[in-house]
Parts: sequence; structure tokens; C-alpha cells
Amino acid sequence: MEQQIHTTHSEQETVELGKLLARRLVRGDSILLYGDLGAGKTEFARGICEELQVEDIVSSPTFTIINQYFATLSDGEDATIYHIDLYRIDSPDELKEIGFSECVHSDNSIKIIEWPEKGSVMIDGPRYEVRFTVDDVEDDKRVITITYATGSVQS
Ligand code: ADP
Ligand code: MG
Repeated sequence: MEQQIHTTHSEQETVELGKLLARRLVRGDSILLYGDLGAGKTEFARGICEELQVEDIVSSPTFTIINQYFATLSDGEDATIYHIDLYRIDSPDELKEIGFSECVHSDNSIKIIEWPEKGSVMIDGPRYEVRFTVDDVEDDKRVITITYATGSVQS
């Protein structure tokens, strides 16, 4: 398993890090974004979407839960991106209602998921697990750890 640790000092640097990751994405990849509110998950997702030529403005999907975009990957292939924010999900029934499982199992799409720990469905297969930590002292500093994994989920 490959792991990278990055430090960013501004919103823009986090967007740039998202863009860098985007260049490595292929269809079927999931990007799982872990971290507190305000940690920078949506900014990172915005970087991914900008790099993949998503036309619409990327807003936080917190209220809509799932945003769907059409994107072009760095290999020139088209792909659907699902940007999902599970922050407001409180029960398996709600997950069902929004069609989370169908979304996660749509093989050829790219899934960007904020608060993946709230989704009861195990997300295995090729995935980047991105963990955001806010610095206690420096307001704009974030430590961002990116781990790439394939196959089944380890617990
Ligand atoms: P989340 O989706 O994790 O709840 P957002 O990405 O919506 O968080 O918001 C992050 C907030 O923190 C934004 O207001 C952004 O301007 C601010 N910020 C400050 N420093 C950084 C940084 N290094 N990386 C990302 N966001 C930062
Ligand atoms: Mg967010």
C-alpha cells in the first residue's frame, strides 16, 4: 500500500493537491475523504473536478447529498463523477433513499465521497483514502494523507 503525506497552507494549495490526484484517476476509482467539518474535503474535491474539466461550478453536495458531473479523464476517456456528501445521513434507510449503494457499485464512474464512514456499504476496489487533519495552531494548515488501496477492505 502506497502512502503520501502532504501539508498545505491555503485553500488553493489543497485545490492544487486535488488536481494532482485527479491526473492519476481512472474509471472505477473511489476517493474517500475523511476529516472534520471545514477540514478541506470539498475544496480538494473541487480541485479534482476542475482538473477533469467538469463544466458546472462544484458546490458542496451537503444539501443535495449526491452531485453528478460529466468529466474527461487524463487519458481522454469520458467518465461520470459522483460527488457524495454523507454528513447529513443518519440511517441505513436514508442511504437507501438516496441510492447510495447503486451509486457506489456503478463500475465505470469516479466516486468522490465525503464522510464515507457514514455509508454502511463497504467501498472496496481501487480507492484513494484521503485523511485531512486541521492544525491546532496554524488556522490554514492542513495535513493530508493519501493512501492508495485495492481489493477488499481491511478492518
Ligand atoms: P469540508 O468539506 O471538509 O467540510 P471545506 O472544503 O468546505 O471543508 O472548507 C474548508 C474551509 O477551510 C474553507 O473555508 C477554506 O477556505 C478553509 N481553509 C483554510 N486553509 C485551508 C487549507 N489549507 N486547505 C483547505 N481549506 C482551507
Ligand atoms: Mg464538505
